[in-house]
Amino acid sequence: MSVICERFDSLGCDSPDHRYKLGIFGGTFDPIHMGHLACAEEVRDSYQLDAVIFVPTAHPVFKRDRRIAPARDRYAMVKRAIEANPYFDASPIEIERGGDTYTVDTLRQMRDHYPSNVDLFFIAGADAVSTLAKWREKEALGTLATFIGVTRPGFLFSENPEEETAQCDTHINVSYLEVTALAISSSGIRERLRNGRSVRYLVPDVVNAYIADRGLYR
Ligand code: ATP
Ligand code: MG
Repeated sequence: MSVICERFDSLGCDSPDHRYKLGIFGGTFDPIHMGHLACAEEVRDSYQLDAVIFVPTAHPVFKRDRRIAPARDRYAMVKRAIEANPYFDASPIEIERGGDTYTVDTLRQMRDHYPSNVDLFFIAGADAVSTLAKWREKEALGTLATFIGVTRPGFLFSENPEEETAQCDTHINVSYLEVTALAISSSGIRERLRNGRSVRYLVPDVVNAYIADRGLYR
């Protein structure tokens, strides 16, 4: 049985002298969309990552005020969406851990699982990076992984536009990457679906089919 995910549990074990780069992409993925997939692929390609693991949250601390689709559905949609990309997988570790989701716990679990020749890279969009100062154990976060901040249309990297980078208010060293601007959001997708509108080409076909099948977001 897999511990972290099906495809990459033994990453780093084959050649202990070789360094491996593992990307971790956390999110609510309610639902996963083309913006998530395209940016993860651009990061993988730019940073020469050996793998990217998508980790859907159980209960995101910053989203307590709204209803979220069941974790098993969000996970199932991510699994289907990444299936055809051999560099991608999804991990149920946050869902299985349950309770409030803190990235520091996830990174510790990854760090404990993988050998020391595997370096961790945490991928976060500009809106997520701008909240880093409020994340639990932010000092520890920076020692567990390198943070990769990706551009996202409509968002700045800092809540305070006068600060050039979020490094001003956290101890986390963020490496910034400009990715192709795709102004797609899960909230936008949910709103379209509520209004009975099409989300074709904004989410993968398999996700669109799953949403219709399960009657989500109506
Ligand atoms: P919601 O609107 O419900 O918040 P979302 O589209 O922001 O959904 P999340 O699951 O909240 O999706 O985001 C997970 C991660 O993906 C975050 O780090 C977020 O910044 C990043 N992200 C989401 N959409 C994009 C996009 N279009 N371009 C770049 N990064 C993105
Ligand atoms: Mg979001």
